[in-house]
Amino acid sequence: MANNKVIGETEPIDKYVWNMVMSNGYDCVFSVDISTHAIEFYHVYKRTNPGSAYTKIESLGAPPDTFDIFMGYLHEYVVEEEQAAFTDQLKVEYICNEINERGNFVRTVHMNFIGERRSKSFKIFPHEADPGKLLGFVYDISAALDHDWMTDEYARLGFMENADRLLSEIPVEREQYSLVYTNIKGFKAINDLFGEQSGDMVIFQTRDILRTLLRPIIMGRLENDHFVLITKDEYLTEQSLNSLASQTYSEGFKQYDYTIRCGIYRIHDREVSIGKMIDRAKLAEKSVSDNITASHVIYNDDVRVNYVKQRVLISDMSKAMDTGEFKAYFQGIVDAGTGQIESAEALVRWQHGKLGMISPGEFIPAFESGGQISALDRFMVERILDFNTRRAKECKFIVPCAVNLSRIDFYNTALMDYLLDKYSNYPFATDYVRIEVTESAYADLEKNASDYLNRFKKLGVRILLDDYGSGMSSLSTLENFEFDIVKLDMGFIHKIGIQEKAEIIIKSTIELSHALGATVTAEGVETREQLEFLRDAGCDHIQGFYFYKPMAEEDFSKLLG
Ligand code: C2E
Ligand code: MG
Ligand code: MG
Repeated sequence: MANNKVIGETEPIDKYVWNMVMSNGYDCVFSVDISTHAIEFYHVYKRTNPGSAYTKIESLGAPPDTFDIFMGYLHEYVVEEEQAAFTDQLKVEYICNEINERGNFVRTVHMNFIGERRSKSFKIFPHEADPGKLLGFVYDISAALDHDWMTDEYARLGFMENADRLLSEIPVEREQYSLVYTNIKGFKAINDLFGEQSGDMVIFQTRDILRTLLRPIIMGRLENDHFVLITKDEYLTEQSLNSLASQTYSEGFKQYDYTIRCGIYRIHDREVSIGKMIDRAKLAEKSVSDNITASHVIYNDDVRVNYVKQRVLISDMSKAMDTGEFKAYFQGIVDAGTGQIESAEALVRWQHGKLGMISPGEFIPAFESGGQISALDRFMVERILDFNTRRAKECKFIVPCAVNLSRIDFYNTALMDYLLDKYSNYPFATDYVRIEVTESAYADLEKNASDYLNRFKKLGVRILLDDYGSGMSSLSTLENFEFDIVKLDMGFIHKIGIQEKAEIIIKSTIELSHALGATVTAEGVETREQLEFLRDAGCDHIQGFYFYKPMAEEDFSKLLG
């Protein structure tokens, strides 16, 4: 660079280039003469004085080979792992070849300037005003990549790079640190109920509470409602984690309770990359969902083994579908008064070639996260339709049958269209295929997804609220949608004769549902005592081993006669 002659600040500038500078806000713009490799700078961004950015225009003159000199100068700043590629590729011939093939040359190069790592985007195009030249732009994209403008925390990249640097500087052997990945359970419902602005407020509130309770040494927001942070283990107390679990957002008279769930990765081994640590903490967080009592999980081998098993199940799924390993089982549901079967629930079973019979509790969560659940649920609807159609043709007794839909299903337009088509064109489907949706799935549905339920309902389909009373139930679910049938969770039913409070809740839920125009099915009824209590309490339908277990199609067919 020192060899370059500075011609001055008033050098006339191509209008084309000037427009590019103004409209794009680049760090630095230059042209390269393809035959002489002479570089000319048209614009230099003054980082030291942001107020004067884009005002000073310099041209350094154009002695031959100055492009190579300039790149050689930059090379010293390029991070070690990218230096070889930089030297090989930032050559005029290489760039010209790539431009001939693709029309442009684009690279992101990471550089260290005085201990600060920066990301520079290099974009080089043919110079439209001068065919003998190329036009190049260097644009500093560090801030765009590293920073989360909304929360003023790091974004993913900024977190990864700075966490890495930080960990290499602190004595992790003496003090124990953990990486924490967080998830706001119920975030979608907040966006839905209060609007996106309130969603943003919840994000801010979460950031502040995480800072106060967990005192991170570094924190970032990965996406949406997910924060990631590193803190000393001593701050990850039961007390602070429990406080995170019970948060309230209030706006005017409205209030909403939400939970901040955490996946924790204990940093014992500095060799594990930050990316891996985040993945593991995230896996741990994902396994919180199955555990209603705790709001955090610490990553360990069980979490990993479980994950591996889920991956295996996901990869076996499509073959299993083709080879008929999935079966629809049917569980009869009876009228509480007469004990006669009046409907059924279809429950999927997987007769796995190697692992034997696997219960839905094991593979449904995997299929939900892997995206295969909707294919399976469509298969179940087809089984129900097929079963009932065959029996109807034979003039046999048929009963309405409910299919379980997962939250994910309401975002699968193909499945929703399939159901809308069946329900709009086949009254038989409308009357005999009911839909069960759990309360937690319903609460997490965004408006356009829950609209499908309204459309099904308008077509005359019966909609059932599954597992009511499990986890965090809320009366607003019953207020927001007119469910036809409320299914009382078996957790309550199993407390009959044991816990008086549960009995009171069962009785009043039955009354409340009736008052709202819904009937009630008790799930998991196993004893005579439970049955009698439920009958006296006015429960309408009974499902449970006391009457029938889920059974294969042939057995259920025999049972119906
Ligand atoms: P769910 O919809 O609440 O289904 C009722 C569960 O209770 C079934 O478990 C059933 O076998 C069990 N059950 C019924 N009566 C009794 C009883 O008296 N005592 C006891 N202890 N259990 C009883 P299963 O078949 O293991 O299914 C578990 C969950 O998996 C279901 O809960 C449902 O949420 C989901 N699931 C099942 N099949 C499907 C499906 O085809 N698609 C989707 N998306 N989810 C399904
Ligand atoms: Mg169900
Ligand atoms: Mg249920």
